[in-house]
Amino acid sequence: MNSLMLNTDGVQIPQLGYGVWQVPAEEAEQAVTTAFKAGYRHIDTAAAYGNEEGVGRAVRNSGLPREKVFVTTKLANGEHARAEAAFDESLARLGLDYVDLYLIHWPMPGQDKYLQAWRAMEKIYRDGRAKAIGVSNFTVETLTRLMDEADIVPAINQIELHPYFQQRQMREFHEANGILTEAWSPLGQGRGLLDDPALRVLADKHCKTPAQIVLRWHLQLGNVVIPKSVTPARIAENIDVFDFILDAEDLAAIGALSRGQRLGPDPDSFE
Ligand code: NAD
Repeated sequence: MNSLMLNTDGVQIPQLGYGVWQVPAEEAEQAVTTAFKAGYRHIDTAAAYGNEEGVGRAVRNSGLPREKVFVTTKLANGEHARAEAAFDESLARLGLDYVDLYLIHWPMPGQDKYLQAWRAMEKIYRDGRAKAIGVSNFTVETLTRLMDEADIVPAINQIELHPYFQQRQMREFHEANGILTEAWSPLGQGRGLLDDPALRVLADKHCKTPAQIVLRWHLQLGNVVIPKSVTPARIAENIDVFDFILDAEDLAAIGALSRGQRLGPDPDSFE
C-alpha cells in the first residue's frame, strides 16, 4: 500500500482508504472488518455518520497493531464551539486512545466558528490525541483565513473530487501550501460516472473496471482517495489498483471529462 507524507512530522497516510458514509451503524463493524481483510489500513468516518462505535470495534478486534491502522474522524457541524468535548466523545465512541487524523467536517461560514474549532484542534494535536489535524470542504477563501490565523497548517483538505468535478484550482492551491488533497465521493457516488463511455474504453484497454480506472487516476494525481462500498467483491476490487499505470493519453482522456458537476452541497452555502 502506497503512503503519502503529511506536512506533520513523520506522519504518513495510506493513499487509498475505506470511507463509511451511509454505512449503517449495525453494519459498520462487519464492513470495516471486510475492508481490513481485503488489505485496507485506512478508515474514514465522522461523528455525523453515526457509526464510529462499529468502526472502533472493527479496529480493536482486527488483530492489527494500532499503529498499522490509520483512522480519520471528523468534527460535526453543530460542534464548532465545543470541539474538544466533541473530540473526546468521538474518541470514546471509537474506543481508541488517539485518532490519526481529525478534520473539521464543513467550514459552515455562516456560523463563523471554524477558527475557534481550529484552536481546539491545535490543542488536541499538541496533546497527541490526534496525530494530525486537517479540514474538509474548505475553499480557497476559508482555508486562507484559517492559515492566516492558525499556528498549524492543515495537513489535508478533504473535498468532493471525481472526474466530473476535478477541483483543479483547489489541487493547485493545496500543492502550493503543502496540504494534501483528499477526494470524497471519488467514484462520483457510483452514479452515471462509472457508465461513461470514455471510462469503459480505458477499462477495456487495461482489463480493469471503470471504478478501478477512476481510482487509479486519483492515485496518479496524488490524491488520497476513500471509496465506499459495502459489497465485499467491490471492496476488494477498489483496492486492486496497484498493478497497472495510466499513460499520459489515458490521463488526458479522463481530464477531458471535467464538467463542473457537483454531487454534494456547495461549502459556501451549506449551513
Ligand atoms: P463513492 O464515490 O465512494 O461511491 C460509493 C458508491 O459507488 C457505492 O455506494 C456504490 O454504489 C458505488 N460503488 C463503489 N464501488 C464500486 C465499484 N467497484 N463498482 C461499481 N460501483 C461501485 O461515494 P461516497 O460514499 O459519497 O464517498 C466516499 C467516502 O468519502 C464516504 O464514504 C465518506 O467517507 C467520504 N465523504 C466525505 C464527505 C465530506 O463531506 N467530507 C462527503 C461525502 C463522502
